[in-house]
Amino acid sequence: MSYFKKVRVRIAPSPTGDPHVGTAYVALFNYVFAKKHGGEFLLRIEDTDQVRAKASSEAMIMKSLRWLGIEWDEGPDKGGPSGPYRQSERTAIYREHTELLLKSGHAYRCFCTSERIDGVRAKQREAGVTTAYDRHCRELPAGEVDASLNKNIHHVVRLKMPMSGSTSFMDEIRGKVEIENSRMDDQVLLKSDGYPTYHLANVVDDHLMKISHVIRAEEWINSTPKHVVLYDAFGWEKPKFAHLPLLRNADKSKISKRKNPVALTYYQRAGILPESLMNFLANMGWSFGNDIEFFTVAEMMDKFDFKNIHLGGPVFDTVKLTWMNQHYMHKLTEDQFVDYVRNEIFSTDYLRALKPFVLERMSRFEQFTDNNAFFFNGALNYTGVEIIPKGKIAADIMGMLNGLVEKLDDLYDWDHERLKAVVEAYKDEIGWKPKDIFMTLRLVLTGRKDSPPLFETMGLIGREMARFRIRDCAQKISQGIEIKDQIKNN
Ligand code: GLU
Repeated sequence: MSYFKKVRVRIAPSPTGDPHVGTAYVALFNYVFAKKHGGEFLLRIEDTDQVRAKASSEAMIMKSLRWLGIEWDEGPDKGGPSGPYRQSERTAIYREHTELLLKSGHAYRCFCTSERIDGVRAKQREAGVTTAYDRHCRELPAGEVDASLNKNIHHVVRLKMPMSGSTSFMDEIRGKVEIENSRMDDQVLLKSDGYPTYHLANVVDDHLMKISHVIRAEEWINSTPKHVVLYDAFGWEKPKFAHLPLLRNADKSKISKRKNPVALTYYQRAGILPESLMNFLANMGWSFGNDIEFFTVAEMMDKFDFKNIHLGGPVFDTVKLTWMNQHYMHKLTEDQFVDYVRNEIFSTDYLRALKPFVLERMSRFEQFTDNNAFFFNGALNYTGVEIIPKGKIAADIMGMLNGLVEKLDDLYDWDHERLKAVVEAYKDEIGWKPKDIFMTLRLVLTGRKDSPPLFETMGLIGREMARFRIRDCAQKISQGIEIKDQIKNN
């Protein structure tokens, strides 16, 4: 009998930023596959990148997946028989497994300094050949290894890749994928800080967690042959692999926040219903059949088969998503509609937070929606708004906004004091006058000159919508939309 008695699948996001639509996409397909086959769906957090991993990002990933209705059977917050489910808590396991490979001769210690490796690469580049480690330490005599270990010389552990022949695997969607072994580098498994690389941790965990099918995005397909070599080195049975097509922009480039929002939290804030987003993602590369586009996750489970996935490069078309959302909005019952508007748009918490700021510009409650629309809206219309201050040109504003939003992307604690500190530091960095940057930002975020204090307003609008408006405005300026007149006047 096969090692895998049961379907067990996982998603393994790295918590390095906002929860990504690509994570939801891969999660949906894994979840549907698991449930269709009466199997289990695991959440594993791949947080071994000590510099980039953030606890806040992990929490947001979990919250967003649950918002979408995706629940895992085992995970960091739930535990389970294969835990811990956070890689940073499993480092001893990776070290033990590295020792096994060193003993069996499938791996070796490499004491090369980064200067040496940079030098090797530079020479290879000069010679016009692919850069790779030159395997200097692959056959070091045992005595030399021991001497270096005794001197505590920093080192990494590398996998001995086969030097001839080829490695292949059967992809459930793509068929046979094969690569010449000569094109594969001696992969680092354990870094000098004792942390594993993605390859080692991923393979060890998938094995120990008894993952039967690795269903992940296409961007990892080049790693899979390396993983196959690792499974063989350990003498382990391999899971089945399926690489889902990457979500793309209309121009077929990989989706990125520079073209369209990619954070799940943005779509939630923008009033997309979770069932719309799930249905939309289900249509990405997979077809239900008979041209049917609207269906539930339960209906998808019924029909799901890898055979119906096409590799054309599904376009993450937000116009289509909005159209699908409209369909689901119309299906809401009266109670669901009232609940949504009350809880998501005019929520008690939001109204309480707004109170100190909105009353000042009102003498009758009828002015509430008009005066404060920017607290509730999505994209703004800047027609007639003079965004570009005297002495600046459109390119200056675009540069300023794009630079600022990069800084804001890293700000997870979105309160007015931190916002003020970030914007002021940025103002000094680019040498703008306070008046110019603050007024521009106020206009970009609210579309008006007379809003409550800038940083409080920015805090209230929220991380998702504020960053979206800054990017959206920069994009509108670059396309000359709506703010054409001011651009011409400059
Ligand atoms: N940590 C990887 C990611 O961020 C996991 C890829 C995989 O599923 O193997 O997506």
